[in-house]
Amino acid sequence: MTYASARTGTLSRAELLALIGTQPRVPLAYLPTPLDEAPRLRSALGTNAPRILIKRDDQTGLALGGNKVRHLEYRLGDMKRKGADSLVVTNVAQSNHARLHTALASKFGLTSYIIKIPSAKDEPINGNLLLDHILGAQIIEAPNNDAATIDLLLNSLIADLEADGHIVYNVPHDPFSMIAGSIAYLGATVELLDQLNALQSAATHIFLAAGNSAAGLALGGKLLGAPYVVHPVSVSHDRASIESSVCKSANGAAELLGIDIRLEPSDIVVHDEYVGERYGVPTKAGIDAIRLLGRTEALILDPVYTAKACSALIDQVRTGAIGPTDTVVFVHTGGLPITFAYAGEILGGLRQEENA
Ligand SMILES: *Cc1c(COP(=O)(O)O)cnc(C)c1O
Repeated sequence: MTYASARTGTLSRAELLALIGTQPRVPLAYLPTPLDEAPRLRSALGTNAPRILIKRDDQTGLALGGNKVRHLEYRLGDMKRKGADSLVVTNVAQSNHARLHTALASKFGLTSYIIKIPSAKDEPINGNLLLDHILGAQIIEAPNNDAATIDLLLNSLIADLEADGHIVYNVPHDPFSMIAGSIAYLGATVELLDQLNALQSAATHIFLAAGNSAAGLALGGKLLGAPYVVHPVSVSHDRASIESSVCKSANGAAELLGIDIRLEPSDIVVHDEYVGERYGVPTKAGIDAIRLLGRTEALILDPVYTAKACSALIDQVRTGAIGPTDTVVFVHTGGLPITFAYAGEILGGLRQEENA
């Protein structure tokens, strides 16, 4: 398999930074995050393995970190611009998103609510949900995961808060909030390219769990003419819907910044073959990745996002789609707390392998 790679940049580094700099931002993350060599992972993958670098966006600092801390810098900037003093999010018990927004509220003295969608990981209280409690989350339990029901709850919560004089930031639906992540990862693109330059290296492939972060890296690479192809790895939906959501997020950012280039599905290589049964259910390949990264690089992957994303990279190397002349960046997007909510599944998977 070959990937398109001939690119011409349309913006310089300085031009892109100037455009991003027009957007509201409150510095919050520990940046730049490290870019670490993974030599023992490389040798474990055999003589045809590429150079592998790991971008440690799990180390962004706030309340156990993760990629979303970068997104929060822009959301908080937008909240300040709008005079908001409260935020509302909707998500499941093991949501990194809910944990980090609650952390943001704690640190900046904001009122915050989580509308919690029922899931298999509600009990026992552990992982992200435990951290939500520590961080002072106000949790409203949704009766089911029906989108219309959740929107009704969200709207009535916002109406109640507004009646009490709050200015509420609607995280799931605010138009800027929806693209804050891709704007943040346009900035992360520059950070990563600077680090690769300092290593006198260039990445040919970037793997990460699909979402707004992947959108920003893909658009940023296209704008700057970087030689890499971004591989957003789905942990939930099928290829077509990931292609459309990644492009929508990237292009929302492009439009806001007045850039006329658009990200097309053909610019990215979406993988939906590593989802397994569904979102939130670990895969055997994901547990294999947890074991391998743990025992070669002492790197902890979570079973819901980063393990599945890394299993894609491992498989693409093993099947020869990516080879020894490539340089691959794996973006570790965080999710550490989830690990503790999946102790049983992870231990079960590790033992199965050892007995095999
Ligand atoms: C949320 C999340 C993602 C992907 O979604 P984004 O839209 O890029 O934030 C990937 N990995 C982890 C660990 C996440 O929490």
